[in-house]
Amino acid sequence: MEDKIKTIEIDGVEFPFNANKAFEKDGHIYCRQCGEQIDSEPLACLGSKKIIFGRKCKCDREEEAKRKDEEIANHIRRLKEECFNTSRNLISCTLDKVIEPDRQEVIIAKNFVKNFKELSKGNSGLIFHGNVGTGKTYLAACIANKIIEEYQIRVKMRNIPQIINDIEKRGFDIDKNDYYRRLSSVSLLILDDFGIERNTEYVNEMVYQIINTRYESKKPTIISTNIPLGVIMNGSNDIDKERIYSRIREMCIPVKIAGKDIRTELGKKKLRETRDLLLG
Ligand SMILES: [Zn+2]
Repeated sequence: MEDKIKTIEIDGVEFPFNANKAFEKDGHIYCRQCGEQIDSEPLACLGSKKIIFGRKCKCDREEEAKRKDEEIANHIRRLKEECFNTSRNLISCTLDKVIEPDRQEVIIAKNFVKNFKELSKGNSGLIFHGNVGTGKTYLAACIANKIIEEYQIRVKMRNIPQIINDIEKRGFDIDKNDYYRRLSSVSLLILDDFGIERNTEYVNEMVYQIINTRYESKKPTIISTNIPLGVIMNGSNDIDKERIYSRIREMCIPVKIAGKDIRTELGKKKLRETRDLLLG
């Protein structure tokens, strides 16, 4: 509907309003929808001159709140896209849907999110270790999503072979230190699948630089790995490996991801539900 501007005089001051949205009653203007008065008290302006402002009514406030919520939701969506990059499927990982919420690693994950600000100050991260198929990636992605939702801060989750491929793909054009710094500029970095990368001097140097840049940026890192914890904790005779491990030992608290795979369990549940649907 088009605006239908009318003007009324209140206390000798002209006050224009949209007659389609508001109406006059006893010398004041009210919203047609919520009934709140929208003309303010007359304020002294210059000398004897007065001014009346239009006040926001309940409808205006609600619309504003809705717009703000939408803005936050969009911001969160963009942060998640940046976080997972090409692995968009991980956006759906959520701690709220984990089927065994009492498992120790799930409780640790929840507390990590809850106390993230405090842990950040101490540069305290986690290392998820355990066998293949225990849901380390899933749990790390749950943490990433929750941290983004709660704090609206930048998180990146990358797997190390991906990072190395990315650097190699860019070839000589890339300033590696700048690349590491950008990777490390986020509030939380998650390095997934540490240890499956090629074991060469060249690759080890890159992995060290990635982890060391993070160490120097004094921000928390979560690492997931299939390497047995003992190998990392006991120190290695391999000098290249040992300098990586010693950084990890300083930055990350070990969390064993044991038991059944959270993902697989979810998958099984889904299969059961599908089967029930099919069998009636
Ligand atoms: Zn209203």
